[in-house]
Amino acid sequence: MTAPSTALVWHERMMWHDTGSGASELPAGGWLEPGEHSENPATKRRFKNLLDATGLTDELLLLRPTPASHEALTRVHPDEYLTRIKDLSSGRGGDAGSESPFGNGSYEIAQLAAGGTIAAIDAVLDGTVANAYALVRPPGHHALADLGMGFCIFANVAIGVRHAQAARGIGRVAIVDWDVHHGNGTQAIFWEDPSVLAISLHQDGLYPSRSGLLEQVGEGAGLGTTLNVPLPAGSGRGAYLAALDQVVVPALEAFAPELIVIACGFDAGALDPLGRMLLPAAAFGEMTRRLLDAADRICGGRLVASHEGGYSAGHVPFCGLAVVEAMSGLSAGIDDPFAYLAGVPGQEITAHQQDAVDAAAALVAGVRGQVLHPPPEVPET
Ligand SMILES: [Zn+2]
Repeated sequence: MTAPSTALVWHERMMWHDTGSGASELPAGGWLEPGEHSENPATKRRFKNLLDATGLTDELLLLRPTPASHEALTRVHPDEYLTRIKDLSSGRGGDAGSESPFGNGSYEIAQLAAGGTIAAIDAVLDGTVANAYALVRPPGHHALADLGMGFCIFANVAIGVRHAQAARGIGRVAIVDWDVHHGNGTQAIFWEDPSVLAISLHQDGLYPSRSGLLEQVGEGAGLGTTLNVPLPAGSGRGAYLAALDQVVVPALEAFAPELIVIACGFDAGALDPLGRMLLPAAAFGEMTRRLLDAADRICGGRLVASHEGGYSAGHVPFCGLAVVEAMSGLSAGIDDPFAYLAGVPGQEITAHQQDAVDAAAALVAGVRGQVLHPPPEVPET
């Protein structure tokens, strides 16, 4: 038996993060009858269960994460923020800022999510595995340094990237965020940082509002290392693969990172209740293969995925399976019960979707010089 080439990070305790009673993405109350909050364990647990049930887990290196250290967290989040979350978490919970409800003990659970992303990055940088999937919860890409947003408490991917840079000697890192919502937290954290290319593909105008616009390209030394690809609602496989081929991969080639991290949300899946995109599970596999090929050419194949959103309990497991199959080069040997989604009208790229891809592609071509050669520091007078 050969050694596994792909690691899977998992810890049951992350499923115990309690977002409380909700109605869709809102907290219950007023005229909203108490029910299930959108960000609940089902999508993540069923994804892991499918990997287990098909036997694929047995072919992976299963990693049990440890909590991210205070030092790792403070590379991104100020002490005051950590103290505030910890105080609430030691009681009955609260909200990390805006739409990020949590219960007792979620501080430690969020530490595991950040620590899980770090564990995945370490396994790849150590050469233990070729690539790694961190199936973590709560998600991280909306979290600002000092404010939780959109179900996120700690910025898992940003914390992982800062760990790679500060503790592992990695210089340049690229983040490819294909969650259907804009990766606003990641963008804000690396806004003026030329060492991190933050790319976000998302549904135009969804969440947060006025966030993830094409014109948002970073500032100062980081000008050109933020790249947004807002895609029109209704985009399917054709639009996403065009965005990968015509925008994301050329941007990665130009930036030449030493590590690529996917902020891996599945809410651009066709059945997601919070997104309005059309992706079938197989398209997530195709997108992953494009990034694997790019990583092979650019950075010795170093690719890490950290789980973000995705709210269809039925569909997410198959989207996740497609990514893990692509990363590992293995097949679970099962048919996707939702394969019919690949045939629904709208999978071909339309003219207005191509316009959106073209606009982002032009930005890559235009800022490439700055991506490769950030403007020199202006000396202080
Ligand atoms: Zn999302």
